[in-house]
Amino acid sequence: MINIQKLNKFYNTTKVLDNVSIDIQKGEIFAIVGHSGAGKSTLMRCINGLEDYSDGSLKVNGKEIKELSKENLREFRKNIGMIFQHFSLIQRKTVFENIALPMQLWGYSKKEISKKVNELLSLVGLDTKLNAFPNELSGGQKQRVAIARALTLDPDILLSDEATSALDPNTTTAILNLLKTINEKLNITIVLVTHEMEVVKQVAQRALLLEHGNIIGFDDTEELFLKPDEKMKEFLGETEVVPNVGINIKIYFPKDNVFQSFITKMARELDMDFDIVWGKLEEINTHIVGNMVINIKNEHKEKVLHYIKQHNIIWEVI
Ligand code: ADP
Repeated sequence: MINIQKLNKFYNTTKVLDNVSIDIQKGEIFAIVGHSGAGKSTLMRCINGLEDYSDGSLKVNGKEIKELSKENLREFRKNIGMIFQHFSLIQRKTVFENIALPMQLWGYSKKEISKKVNELLSLVGLDTKLNAFPNELSGGQKQRVAIARALTLDPDILLSDEATSALDPNTTTAILNLLKTINEKLNITIVLVTHEMEVVKQVAQRALLLEHGNIIGFDDTEELFLKPDEKMKEFLGETEVVPNVGINIKIYFPKDNVFQSFITKMARELDMDFDIVWGKLEEINTHIVGNMVINIKNEHKEKVLHYIKQHNIIWEVI
């Protein structure tokens, strides 16, 4: 649905996107992750044609964005909804009027507008707030209005630029759940730009990690967290502190694997004690994944590795 090939983007002489290639599939929730200044917003703005790119290809539904005429670009943008960190609502308009705005601009009839806005108010859970003004709403409610407004023209794609960054954790979860519902019910592809790993874990099926305009990771979300490479660990600010005596073995537990029983079973069957020196469990897309480091005596290495290998466990000596 969104095919990006060897995309480069410069601001003057500074390269802000460096050889970026990704394919975003129809119907998925895809996250573009990175620290501030990594190039995430630039990439997002290239996707909706707000920003030109220097070279490479960026196709949405088979159309090369930089080849679109002004008129076609306007039509193309109709198909992409956008939400932002600070909601971008018009303060002197009511909730209803804010949501109705894109349809008014495209000349829809009052009847069509009223039907659509009421449907969307119900979808985002704001039926009772249609006459409220933005300053009478909480942050989460404001974002719900913005989401409804982004959906008025029935887009195929919803781009979210740090949409939960100004919200507290509970509200963030509620908004992410709403995005999930929209993704499932309306089959809308969602691309999230975020610097928050929690957001990625909660909703994204795949994620792209950007650093200084370069892709440093690109995988299924579970894989990224389950088996982070060095760059990802650095990104997460995560290093295991493990003993420098004996052998440290890291054991990975893919989703829904009941790992406690594996560790205790191994201890029992090998009649051996070992120390669990590091461990981490994550809930990713409602699945539990994680890893754990055990420390064993040097002389037990062969026996333990033999046992682990027999059980099809993902592991590494660290
Ligand atoms: P992110 O969204 O990951 O925080 P951005 O895409 O906003 O990053 O910015 C990537 C880099 O491009 C940054 O170094 C930023 O300073 C620079 N940049 C962004 N917009 C412009 C612009 N309009 N002109 C010049 N440099 C820009």
